[in-house]
Amino acid sequence: MRRGLVSALATILASCLASGAARAEEELRIALASGQSTVELAGEGLAIYDGDVGDALVRAKGRGTARLVAKQDGLQIQGAPGAPSGTIRHVIVEATDAVAVGKGVYFGRVEVGPDPERRGQLLVVNRLPLETYLLGIVGSEMNPSWPLEALKAQAVAARTYAMQRRAMMRAANRPYDLASSVISQVYKGAERIRPAVIQAVKETRGEVMSHHHELVEALFHSTCGGHTVTAQQAFGSPVPYLQRQTCEWCRPSGRYRWSLSYTVPELSRRLSKAGLLKGTLRAVERTGPDDALRIQDGGGRRTLDPRQLRRALGFSTLFSERFSAHTKSGRVAFQGLGFGHGVGMCQWGARGQALEGRTYRQILEHYYRGIELKHMY
Ligand SMILES: [Zn+2]
Repeated sequence: MRRGLVSALATILASCLASGAARAEEELRIALASGQSTVELAGEGLAIYDGDVGDALVRAKGRGTARLVAKQDGLQIQGAPGAPSGTIRHVIVEATDAVAVGKGVYFGRVEVGPDPERRGQLLVVNRLPLETYLLGIVGSEMNPSWPLEALKAQAVAARTYAMQRRAMMRAANRPYDLASSVISQVYKGAERIRPAVIQAVKETRGEVMSHHHELVEALFHSTCGGHTVTAQQAFGSPVPYLQRQTCEWCRPSGRYRWSLSYTVPELSRRLSKAGLLKGTLRAVERTGPDDALRIQDGGGRRTLDPRQLRRALGFSTLFSERFSAHTKSGRVAFQGLGFGHGVGMCQWGARGQALEGRTYRQILEHYYRGIELKHMY
């Protein structure tokens, strides 16, 4: 991210977030990297503190850099003037605006210490306030130029999802709340912070969805293709508020209906590579998205889990598990509905509802049945 942009964002964040801080908001711990032998740090006014006792170990005037090197039971700080030469167990890193770790730039604090899962290596965790995290994630999960009520629905869903994950990871005593696969979206997101995203996060500050006083599993996806699917159908276990809901609002999505076709030998090669075949493929048949997927190969006829087929072909190639398939004249043709797992909020549907004048509450209540909206702070 450009340096000027980072400073500008830091200023915006500080001013717009401080205003609503009546009650303390929650902090998220996001794993940036695990199993690291070295960690490169940089930042304006870079400061490194002993994580156990709080003493300042490094404090740069102007832009500072440092390298943390994994040691048995801790780390050593290198390349920073005045840093102690001994081993420190873990450190907290701060900077005036944002901390650069490797190629990424992060708001909030960065903690580096022994990786509990990889002995002798380092775990890097970004600690940042939930609302700051949301400013990054909302614009990457949903196009920031979409209507405000859709962005607000996305903000509440993403906040609820993060809080629910946080509770789960803390109950399991894990050293972070969200894993690094999620974090890449945050940085893409940090470039996509727009006034509308800030407004959506601010106007829903602290708001989450609950069901019988428990945080909702706020799943969402791009396009449902006409109706959402139950959690039972997609993941095999029922969730009372994740039911099938009709949705025609996502019709403008380019993935509302899609088709894809392969020659039989080409599909055979791909499925073989994924270990899904016995011998070569002869045919794939599926009458509709709710029916069994049947394949015929050297081992005869049998059914295949559509999820396995989607994983083998790629999640951005076979856009959903809701498809039909027919084999004819040496080709397998897929006709599909929607993009994503189809459970919970349909994002293109949220956009369509917002364009019709529905509020973010109405949007959320449509996709998550029987839930309540409440403020955590
Ligand atoms: Zn939809």
